[in-house]
Order: sequence, then C-alpha cells, then structure tokens
Amino acid sequence: MKYDLNNIFAKILRNEIPCQKVYENDYALAFNDINPQAKIHVLVIPKGPYVNMDDFSQNAKNEEIVGLIRALGEVAKIVGVSTYSEGQGYRYIGNNGPDGGQEVPHLHFHIVGGEPLGRMVSKR
Ligand code: AMP
Repeated sequence: MKYDLNNIFAKILRNEIPCQKVYENDYALAFNDINPQAKIHVLVIPKGPYVNMDDFSQNAKNEEIVGLIRALGEVAKIVGVSTYSEGQGYRYIGNNGPDGGQEVPHLHFHIVGGEPLGRMVSKR
C-alpha cells in the first residue's frame, strides 16, 4: 500500500497549507473539516503516513494507535460533544477505500455532531 506524499493532509502536516487546528498530541492532529456536514465536524488524523485503517491497523506502532484514539476522546471534549463532559454525543466516521467513500488517502476519523444526526448509513 503506497502512501501519496502529496495528499492534502500530508501537506497540512508539513505546514504547507493551513488548517484550523483543534488539538494536537505527539501522534495525532485534529482540525476542522473545510466542508462541515454538521455544526461540529472535526477531522482527526495520525501524524504518521498511513493510507487508511487497513494500513494503520497493520503497520502503526502501539503508541501511534493509542495516540490517535486518545486524540478522538480529547477532541470530543474540546468541542463540547463528549458524553464524558455533559455533551450530547457525536458520530465518529472512518471512510476506508473506494467503497467506503474515502477521498483523501491519509487515515482520518470524522467527528461529527453538535446536533442529532439521524440514521447511520445512507446510500444516497
Ligand atoms: P473522506 O471522504 O472521508 O476522505 O473525507 C475527506 C474530508 O476531508 C472531507 O470531509 C473534506 O471536506 C475534508 N477536507 C478536504 N480538504 C480539506 C482541507 N484542506 N482542510 C480540511 N478538511 C479538508
């Protein structure tokens, strides 16, 4: 699985293009989605070069996996949707590969919320 060094999130990680940063730790970066699908829409990405979850789950170091998952929880608290801090919850979405609708070939979770989101999957 070859990683494209010129994908847009790789450029954000190299500070070649800007982002609206929400949170960062040693292994993950979170920033607002440029085209939000709900009141809250944040992307959480590993800092390492992983194409998708297949790549990450096979090849990431344990500390990278922990760092990414911890980042998800921290971001949910920061943006006020975490049920751990009296938010109303959210959806975390990971699109993986062509059938999953993944457009950017750098692993990312979407954290979407701030309002009720309805059903989980629509083909339309
Ligand atoms: P996916 O379809 O899961 O690959 O989602 C890619 C997401 O990246 C979409 O929600 C886009 O709106 C978002 N996106 C693309 N370019 C940028 C950017 N420069 N900054 C923030 N979000 C972006």
